[in-house]
Amino acid sequence: MIRAIYPGSFDPVTLGHMDIAERALCVADELVIGVLNNSKKTSLFSAEERVKMLQDTLGIKHSNIRVEAFTGLTVDFARKVNADIIIRGLRAVTDYEYELQMAQMNYKLLPDVETIFLMANIKYAFLSSSVIKEVALYGGDITNFVPPVVAERLREKF
Ligand code: ADP
Repeated sequence: MIRAIYPGSFDPVTLGHMDIAERALCVADELVIGVLNNSKKTSLFSAEERVKMLQDTLGIKHSNIRVEAFTGLTVDFARKVNADIIIRGLRAVTDYEYELQMAQMNYKLLPDVETIFLMANIKYAFLSSSVIKEVALYGGDITNFVPPVVAERLREKF
């Protein structure tokens, strides 16, 4: 049984994140989505709100996906949940340098756990949580880019 983690900020979850999580089930039997609760990074939604939105979308749809908040290092979270692999998504070359550095550092810290990258679906390659928040802030229509529960929560925030 292969257990994967998919760590990230998910502030908030987009259809791009959902696509990566669902495709990760092709390589993993079980996926634990790790919502990073980073005190140094200001987020629009609290870790609890981000976990809830992921549970209400991916968690409800797939019995083999669960969602947990974590603080600190990804490798410690991977150890805690006994993960075999770390899943990350790549949208464009701009993601590559940072992702490569993180993957190499994580490999040094925890060589038993391999990072696997999934290429963004072309439909969602332009999507990021920050762009969604900016469009939502100025009243733009984000309903094609996030699940309905997230669109509703963004409407409440702004
Ligand atoms: P982080 O702050 O850790 O980058 P994000 O929530 O922004 O957290 O992203 C989590 C992971 O999902 C990253 O690997 C990122 O590259 C990937 N990702 C984000 N948006 C998309 C998308 N639209 N398509 C594919 N992968 C994505």
